[in-house]
Amino acid sequence: MSAAESAPPANLAALIYSDELARFDYGDDHPFKPLRARNTLELCVRYGLLGEPGVVQREPKPAEPAYLERFHDPAYLDVLRRASGGTFDVAMLARGIGTEDCPVLRGLWEFCLLSVGATRACVEAVLDGTARRAFNLVGGFHHAYRDHAEGFCYASDVGAAVEDLLARGLRVAYVDIDAHHGNGMQDAFYADDRVLKISLHESGATLYPFGGAETEIGEGKGRGFNVNVPLLERTDDEVYLEAFERVVPPLLSAFRPDVVVGVLGADTHISDPLTHLRLTSEAYYRVVRQLCALAPRLVAVGAGGYDVFRSARCWTLAWAAMAEREPQDEYAGLVGGMMFGSEIDGLFDRPMPTTGEAKERALAEARRVVEFHQRTVFPLLGATPP
Ligand SMILES: [Zn+2]
Repeated sequence: MSAAESAPPANLAALIYSDELARFDYGDDHPFKPLRARNTLELCVRYGLLGEPGVVQREPKPAEPAYLERFHDPAYLDVLRRASGGTFDVAMLARGIGTEDCPVLRGLWEFCLLSVGATRACVEAVLDGTARRAFNLVGGFHHAYRDHAEGFCYASDVGAAVEDLLARGLRVAYVDIDAHHGNGMQDAFYADDRVLKISLHESGATLYPFGGAETEIGEGKGRGFNVNVPLLERTDDEVYLEAFERVVPPLLSAFRPDVVVGVLGADTHISDPLTHLRLTSEAYYRVVRQLCALAPRLVAVGAGGYDVFRSARCWTLAWAAMAEREPQDEYAGLVGGMMFGSEIDGLFDRPMPTTGEAKERALAEARRVVEFHQRTVFPLLGATPP
């Protein structure tokens, strides 16, 4: 990094927030609810996590179309722009648009430009000395491919951000803790040794996108730079934390990234309606805190999370980790009339371990995958098991 880029940042964390992004509506029946971002902002205020010192809040600007072209095929972007008129035509289907997951939506193009712009603002904030870590809640569209939409994702804010960081000559680690495998990102950078990709996710045996096996370790120059940690359904805090701690810190230490791009999906939570992992907000918080400690600079994005209220709690904790603040409930003791009626228990869940045979299976499988990587990927990257 240049001298300016390596100067100590003025703040610990920058929140990149746009109410326009939060208000974008995928439709009543669609599980993806950008409004979770506003819920998170409100919880951050309630828990005393915004305001001086050490944190700043910024409004993002839309990215220029050329910035999206750093990652996406221009012909695909033409189709995406057309879909933004709100009228479906059959040619869109070849690009993944007009499906149940990725419907044609009026204003979609502007939404994409702004969400990509918000992650770009995170990149700029961590490089220009604004903050060590920056968080865009409405980002992490990791299922978008260079040439098509998939899995609620149209424009890859994270793909464009990684291309941007690589173009500046920086070493990038991409760490994806969303419950779904980051297939679009793996595909785009599979043969690339300039970006280390690590994804912990529910196994493709039981969850979309039905890939992301541990044996997919990259190809060509990129061999060893793609690390998948598929986890069985019902994986709980204990199993997840063991897998994370045995894989992520040693690989990041060996790779020594300048910047970590963290995809902080909250759909690993036990209450998530689309997935089958069983994490509590406690484990999620511990993972994000470790990531914050390991990353010299962190570009963080919200990604998935389909239990709206519990996702907002998780991201509030993620923000607390980035800002290095203890959440304090400003309204503790007040009764009634609050935004979230069921929220009297605070941000942390009680422990909810998996038991019996399901636990043993999940633990054995996680250990098998970890040991596979310690045998195959660790030597390629010069990493040492902890
Ligand atoms: Zn997800």
